[in-house]
Amino acid sequence: MALIKCPECGEIISDQSDVCIHCGYPFKRDNERLIPVTFRRVKSFIGCIVPLHVAVDGNSLPDDDYTIRLTPGTHTVFMDGADTSCSDVIKVPENATGVTVLIKLSNYFNFFVDETRFQIVDVEVY
Ligand SMILES: [Zn+2]
Repeated sequence: MALIKCPECGEIISDQSDVCIHCGYPFKRDNERLIPVTFRRVKSFIGCIVPLHVAVDGNSLPDDDYTIRLTPGTHTVFMDGADTSCSDVIKVPENATGVTVLIKLSNYFNFFVDETRFQIVDVEVY
């Protein structure tokens, strides 16, 4: 626990307080800070964009490229489309002002399997 100065009345209070005990000023905790996270599809190796359904923490996103606001921490991303589905996690850092998540349809070739799946290829934190 640390002591901080209330930005409203200047009194010293605990940083665990939800409100200032002197003036009632409400404090928002860091983990309640919502950070804009944009989900963006990138072109596949053959240069096309295929239909992709994305859900974050079980909540379906309405559009292909879409920005939602998430709390810092780990979130589950479910990607479904082109006869393939998978899930991955993204981490939203406490100090981020925004995050862009790039999702790509990738092919994996090996001797026996020609597999196509969606994948988070990049997470840009700014
Ligand atoms: Zn105060």
